[in-house]
Amino acid sequence: MKQIDHFLATGAAAATRYSDVFDPNAGVVQARVPLGDAALLDAAVAAAQKAQPGWAATNPQRRARVMFAFKALVEKNMDELAYMLSSEHGKVIADSKGDIQRGLEVIEFACGIPHLLKGEYTLGAGPGIDVLSTRVPLGIGAGITPFNFPAMIPMWMFGVAIACGNAFILKPSERDPSVPVRLAELLREAGAPEGILQVVHGDKEMVDAILDHPAISAVSFVGSSDIAHYVYSRGVAAGKRVQAMGGAKNHGIVMPDADLDQVVSDLAGAAFGSAGERCMALPVVVPVGKSTADELRARMVKAIAKLRVGVSTDPDADYGPVVNAAHKARVEGWIQTGVDEGAELVVDGRGFELQGHEKGFFIGPTLFDHVTPDMRAYKEEIFGPVLQIVRAETFEDAVALPSTHQYGNGVAIFTRNGHAAREFAARVNVGMVGINVPIPVPVAYHSFGGWKRSAFGDHNQHGTEGVRFWTKVKTVTQKWPDGSAEGGNSFVIPTMG
Ligand code: NAD
Repeated sequence: MKQIDHFLATGAAAATRYSDVFDPNAGVVQARVPLGDAALLDAAVAAAQKAQPGWAATNPQRRARVMFAFKALVEKNMDELAYMLSSEHGKVIADSKGDIQRGLEVIEFACGIPHLLKGEYTLGAGPGIDVLSTRVPLGIGAGITPFNFPAMIPMWMFGVAIACGNAFILKPSERDPSVPVRLAELLREAGAPEGILQVVHGDKEMVDAILDHPAISAVSFVGSSDIAHYVYSRGVAAGKRVQAMGGAKNHGIVMPDADLDQVVSDLAGAAFGSAGERCMALPVVVPVGKSTADELRARMVKAIAKLRVGVSTDPDADYGPVVNAAHKARVEGWIQTGVDEGAELVVDGRGFELQGHEKGFFIGPTLFDHVTPDMRAYKEEIFGPVLQIVRAETFEDAVALPSTHQYGNGVAIFTRNGHAAREFAARVNVGMVGINVPIPVPVAYHSFGGWKRSAFGDHNQHGTEGVRFWTKVKTVTQKWPDGSAEGGNSFVIPTMG
């Protein structure tokens, strides 16, 4: 049985507990991953503590050169990485390349770290006094990442954290851990010193060890909301800086004047791409007015009939299997809940079998109509290839739906009316808004983060928000007396007056 080891500066470590890694196309176990504990984390932290001061003292231009070299290495190994990613996650190869590419764009941003870390300076803040504020690394940061973007999300975190001069310990999802390990190998090859990026595998035991470890200053988490909230609370109670991104239920509002052909094409990709396993997927569509809803539904049914579900290496497949059998059962359970709650199941993707891959974790595209806000299947995240139509009578009703939902990650509006779009963007209570853009994931030099139960903590991921998260401010107030002034103690708080 293939084993996916930790990536530690101290080398291989013994394990007593393991987790299975599946091949979701075939539906069989393909490897096992050791689950680390607090002792293993201690060893990783000790190595990080040894490496970090030297790395922080390396000038930022040299740290940026490591990022440039890493980018080139990831590009050189793109095919291997994409294949590895698809084989554990199940998303199609082109989509895996997109996952890697979106992470690389954060590395490109991190290549500008010398500029990003330049501080602020006030010459002559008082008589002969200058003030200098600069951002310095925190020390050791940790990242805990979900299964659905095993390349992009680790790079969101370690790209910025390491460029800022921190050492980083990554605890990736135990469901698809190979790509994060391979990225750590490539960063080492690019010139990052040993101990600057380590990968520890594990489950709750390792997460708790990270949250409690006194030498880890900051934790970035991305995953489901209940766990994000737990990670946030426990990490903050231990005195750490924590950002914890959670789940989502993104809505797409379709105004009567929208270009429906474009909407249906956008929706098919956004709802069913990556089998719906994206936190920026669009699993709820809100047509405004009955005729918009009826027309949209009819066109969506036709578009679904043309979708091709296939193995992740099939270049013609639109999407592949979900990540494992437990997740498949969970998604199918939510479909049943929707039926039980009275929604109309227009297309049922359950029981889908791919010839030659009957044990694979495939789910066909599923469409519900007449979903209402009181249904649990609407309130909760399904994270599968399931699209729900929630009909709204007016623009006001449509704005209210995503605004009052427990999640507030992304939202989109489809319209030709600039005024409606502008009003919507201004009023909707959601963190990332798309106008005729179904998946409004901000570019790397802006920042990623939702609202409400989609994110706990302050700073967003990447962009200057990421730089702020992974650094703290040191402010130096200085004067260089020439000895001519009269001395004497001052018992009054110094002012610059
Ligand atoms: P998950 O919450 O199950 O796991 C995320 C991480 O937490 C993993 O590393 C896992 O090992 C760890 N973990 C699991 N159970 C734990 C526990 N009881 N205690 C402590 N740690 C635990 O999430 P997932 O299924 O891997 O990923 C899918 C979820 O992530 C979805 O809810 C999706 O919306 C969300 N997500 C959010 C964003 C975002 O930026 N908001 C991005 C991607 C995914």
